[in-house]
Amino acid sequence: MRGMNKRDKRNNRNTRFKGMRTLRGVSVLLMLLSLMMLTSCGQGTDIRIGVGSEKGVYYSYAQKIKEIEGTWATLELKTTAGSAASLRLLQKGFLEAAIVQSDVLDSADKGTGVFIKDAIGDKRTYSAACGLYTEAVQIVVRKDSDIKNVDDLTGKVVSVGEEQSGVIQNAEQILQVFGISFSDIQVKHLSFEDSANALRKKEIDAFFCTAGAPTPAVAELFRDSEVRLLSLQGEDIKRIRKHYPGYTSCTIQAGTYEKQEEDVYTVGVRAVLVVANHLDKVTVKKLTETIYTNAGSLNRDIAGEGDMTAEKAVESIVIPFHSGASTYLLSQGAKVEVDKNGEKNDGAYGSQDE
Ligand code: GLU
Repeated sequence: MRGMNKRDKRNNRNTRFKGMRTLRGVSVLLMLLSLMMLTSCGQGTDIRIGVGSEKGVYYSYAQKIKEIEGTWATLELKTTAGSAASLRLLQKGFLEAAIVQSDVLDSADKGTGVFIKDAIGDKRTYSAACGLYTEAVQIVVRKDSDIKNVDDLTGKVVSVGEEQSGVIQNAEQILQVFGISFSDIQVKHLSFEDSANALRKKEIDAFFCTAGAPTPAVAELFRDSEVRLLSLQGEDIKRIRKHYPGYTSCTIQAGTYEKQEEDVYTVGVRAVLVVANHLDKVTVKKLTETIYTNAGSLNRDIAGEGDMTAEKAVESIVIPFHSGASTYLLSQGAKVEVDKNGEKNDGAYGSQDE
């Protein structure tokens, strides 16, 4: 500093001062950055979500939600045998969320179908967040098979879905409408992937698969083998819906699967996201909003699905909605009725005009 004139000294002080300011700015920036990094490293609620098997659609759907979930939650995908297994795990606190079939939710409530021996009823510790997409009940056979309709399944080797799946309930109900019980067929309880492999190897004659179409396991089978889906007659669909009003009619359009030349008519149920009641309102609201606003891209791989609507979000859902979900869905114009009796549950029901 020696030899500096007054002006030089002042300039030097200014530079040092500016330098300190810059340094302080940089450290504030660094602090902010590390804060941002901390929050983006999964500081949100941990949500274990039950998703069926890897070659189903629940799995890929949940995977996509996980990719856009943001900082408010960390989704951990847990494979299960399907809807009934996921609901039981959710009820017991081993999961915080699950994707399940709308008809299985109804069965758990009423003690019917797969829940005939162990109704959950109003002891339920979970509630609905949002309807997602339609799952088609698909019956897959080899192309050259003599099975042309459901009646022809009598005496055949048929995979009716895993124990504790939703598939098994659909298989049992549909066969029953045709006067066929599990004792009239040779029952196998295989996952989608194992069913597809068994059909390839001619170890089974047919399998049931309730999932969004195209279902990955079935799509692979269509690609590498000669298979087809059974199409139900209009009258049969009416009969099934009369016995079991939880089904809708649904069409798997030609081309949904490779080499699928004709439309296939069948029945469907809704895939529904359910969440533990103890999840906080803000998290569930954000989760519901994320699904609602991203439905177009989440549903991209599912034939016939598009953006979410207020009607679709509550369609076929018979259990109460979580308050975080109902707050968001109401703001979108969904008909979510407040349940007058409902302190125990979350106090809001979806309703349909039908
Ligand atoms: N709906 C099937 C079930 O609950 C699972 C479908 C899927 O994994 O996409 O058994």
